[in-house]
Amino acid sequence: MSQTPTPSMVYDILEACAHPGCPLCRVSRRWAERFVAAILYEEVTDPHTRGRLRDSFGFCREHAWQATEVGGTLLGMSIIYRSLLNHLAGELEKPVSTSRGNWWQALGGRRDVDAASGLFAATECPACIHLRGMEDAALIALTDALPDNASLRAGLAQSHSGLCLPHLRQALTLARSDAAIEILREDTRRRLRALVGELDEFIRKYDHRFNKEAWGAEHDSWERAVLWMVGGARES
Ligand SMILES: [Zn+2]
Ligand SMILES: [Zn+2]
Repeated sequence: MSQTPTPSMVYDILEACAHPGCPLCRVSRRWAERFVAAILYEEVTDPHTRGRLRDSFGFCREHAWQATEVGGTLLGMSIIYRSLLNHLAGELEKPVSTSRGNWWQALGGRRDVDAASGLFAATECPACIHLRGMEDAALIALTDALPDNASLRAGLAQSHSGLCLPHLRQALTLARSDAAIEILREDTRRRLRALVGELDEFIRKYDHRFNKEAWGAEHDSWERAVLWMVGGARES
């Protein structure tokens, strides 16, 4: 499902730059909330959506928990999960294949994979599919706009963490402009060097000779390092 890059996506990212964490992770989380809320609402009335959620076994771990936090969705969630649990209970009632598998499996004592058949979703989480399309479009809009948009460049440069590593990779892969690629690489290089400096300071203060010194901005540098590596948005 491909989405169209729009200026409002760039605006949303710019606005998110004022908050901690990767701006795209933050915006993406908001898109996921909207999508999950809409799909849960539709689920009650639309057979196509119901079929889609049956095939994907609902949402992935991240989006299922997010769905539980969306207000007004308890009925939709209950209907989906009742149907999924019923389906899975039916699968578990089917007899397990007695096939011994091949000689290698028999030798290793590995259980035949058929014992778990029917317990795998046929399709990916619909929120993940939707978000991938939205994020791709947003990163194309962002990288298209970066070279000629000074306030966007300034917003990104002043943001707390810039794009996280997963979103940076995605942006650099999708970017259609060499100038945008250079801006993103340079901005990230600068941030990483600064963060390494903070980690140096954090580690230094663990030394018994210096551990009476008060913590400064480096106190959560280890957390920001993890956040940059794996992404994820903090709500603040
Ligand atoms: Zn991110
Ligand atoms: Zn998902």
